[in-house]
Amino acid sequence: VLNLRDFPRPGQTTKARNFDKSPGGKGANQAVAAAGLGGEVSMYGALGDDSYGDVLRETLAKSGVKTANIERRSVSSGLAIVMVDKNGENEIVTVAGANGTVKSKYAEKVFRPISKSKILLLQLETPLAGIRKVLNLLPDKGRPKVILDPAPAIPLDQIPLQKVDILTPNEKELGILSSNKTTDAALKAILSTETTIILKQGEDGAEYIAADSKFHVPAYDVKAEDTTGAGDAFNGALAVALSNDYKTDKAIKFANAAGAIATKGNGAQSSIPTFDTVKKLMKESE
Ligand code: ADP
Repeated sequence: VLNLRDFPRPGQTTKARNFDKSPGGKGANQAVAAAGLGGEVSMYGALGDDSYGDVLRETLAKSGVKTANIERRSVSSGLAIVMVDKNGENEIVTVAGANGTVKSKYAEKVFRPISKSKILLLQLETPLAGIRKVLNLLPDKGRPKVILDPAPAIPLDQIPLQKVDILTPNEKELGILSSNKTTDAALKAILSTETTIILKQGEDGAEYIAADSKFHVPAYDVKAEDTTGAGDAFNGALAVALSNDYKTDKAIKFANAAGAIATKGNGAQSSIPTFDTVKKLMKESE
């Protein structure tokens, strides 16, 4: 992240006030959140053979995430360069790097341990081909419950919903999923499959939407400072709650509490809540 007064114009050189590096990526953030909340977590994906790859692997391992299945590739690690100007506007450049290599071949290789897990939590920061492959290989019965975070969002017709049990967009992502349809039409299209939706609604909490039922779970009242990573904390927490066989409404409460706590600190992985802080917030608000 570079903080600067004004964005450089083409051909211009400009000075930034500072340069901060922090580990991120939706998959990594969600894995760290799930491990921090007491889940037994294995991460699948790839890192580059650069120094960022070393740091990212170390931070995952330190957070309790199993990294044995993360491969190293002779390209750069995936990263995002974020420029923030004096008005707080941002310009972001992302490099897929090693993330771009997580395709069908890798999916086939790691499919066996994945298929034995209780919950499979997927995001869209790696190629769709790999995601599609894993979903295709999963059996119809006796498979992990699949949660897909459709982020970064793409139009619905490109998302493989087959064997996805829960889709977790935020409201902005729901708009992108819907593309030129109304969000109601997009929700209807999703619900015509076996997939249910848990819609993340920021300070309003979350909404559970299934074909035959729908309910709202209010947010916890916290003083939000930086909402970066709230959605990732929510998803990691949801996975842990469902792996503990929580009923859906309790699982969403747990995820709401994790998301709320994540808004109280800066950054994504540094503001991830622990199981005890989540339980405490839930108890205080009873
Ligand atoms: P994302 O981080 O993907 O944009 P949201 O902003 O919807 O997703 O946040 C994810 C979850 O975090 C919400 O569903 C909610 O539970 C919690 N959350 C986010 N912002 C707040 C807030 N201001 N107050 C309380 N909870 C929040």
